[in-house]
Amino acid sequence: MKELQSFGWYAARVAPHLPKKAFNPAPERLWGGLAYLIVVIAGILTISLTDFNIWINLAIAIVLGPSFAAMGFLGHEILHGTVVRKAWLRELTGGIAFFPLSTGPKLWVKWHNMTHHRHTQDEEKDPDAWPTIEEFSKAKILKPFYRLPASLRGFLGMAFLAITFTFHSSRMFKRFITEFKPEKRASVWFQLLFPWATWIGLLLLIGPLKWTFAFLLPLLIGNFIVMAYIATNHRLNPLVPVNDPLANSLTVTLPKWVDVLHFNFSYHTEHHLFPGMSSKYYPLVKAELKKRWPERYHEMPMLQALAALYKTPRLYSNKTELVDPGAGIAYGTLGHGLNPASIKPKEADAVSSTEKKPKDSMNG
Ligand SMILES: [Zn+2]
Ligand SMILES: [Zn+2]
Repeated sequence: MKELQSFGWYAARVAPHLPKKAFNPAPERLWGGLAYLIVVIAGILTISLTDFNIWINLAIAIVLGPSFAAMGFLGHEILHGTVVRKAWLRELTGGIAFFPLSTGPKLWVKWHNMTHHRHTQDEEKDPDAWPTIEEFSKAKILKPFYRLPASLRGFLGMAFLAITFTFHSSRMFKRFITEFKPEKRASVWFQLLFPWATWIGLLLLIGPLKWTFAFLLPLLIGNFIVMAYIATNHRLNPLVPVNDPLANSLTVTLPKWVDVLHFNFSYHTEHHLFPGMSSKYYPLVKAELKKRWPERYHEMPMLQALAALYKTPRLYSNKTELVDPGAGIAYGTLGHGLNPASIKPKEADAVSSTEKKPKDSMNG
């Protein structure tokens, strides 16, 4: 079995082969953010101030949704410090970028940078890791869901992505607010309430129909896009005792123009190696990773990853196996027998002997 290594171990081996400028902030990324900001403001104003028919408003909403998501991707990058160095400017621009998704920058840094990155796929410490079967047995809320047929569950799971980011973000607020020093809590609250007050104010101003196109529908679309990445970044991978990005992360592949629009957010394994590096250099990191550890590296087209997500249950029976508690069927994870090109449950006898030799062969 391949020994797990920390992200620092890989980073130390790859860094000398990257150009020096890759480690500098890339403030030119803000131009992309400004373009999205103009699109968002113009779209919302157009819907608010004009009386176009529903179809034009729908077309505007379909542009706004991906813009909400893309601003979130840039916000993620900004708050990792890869765009501007000054702390106040980082928080201001990060806050603006996350405004449509209504996640405050202070909360995001605590949740994502300080917890998800440090403890990726650790079942107890990673706030984004999916539950194990033991946690599931404690969580009553999930049980009726797992009594539904697998296909319906897969469909609901996909539909749920359209609200998951907003929902998860509010759970994270509840989880982390008490971890902020008391003198900081007021500003964390402000960063939550200010965007929401703005969006609710807009509702009162323009009425529910226009608001649906100006904010609600774009928010659902934005949620779905953001979650299509977040859900496939780690959820087909095993839980790991060592934070090894090549074992616990997946890079999805998309047409180049989508990567341009989404600030290379698809390069997630690379991001976990170098979270402080602008994602514009991740294709260079990827080439190094594939040269050195091709047998460890996982990548697959986004649609294939979503299909694999649709076809597999989201509960870990042990660190390397996903299980459907209702049907008692188990599936491997990436690097442990899950072949995304042909998803099949494990053989019944393999299911019971869970921690036997994991198979390493079937990388994506
Ligand atoms: Zn991640
Ligand atoms: Zn990150």
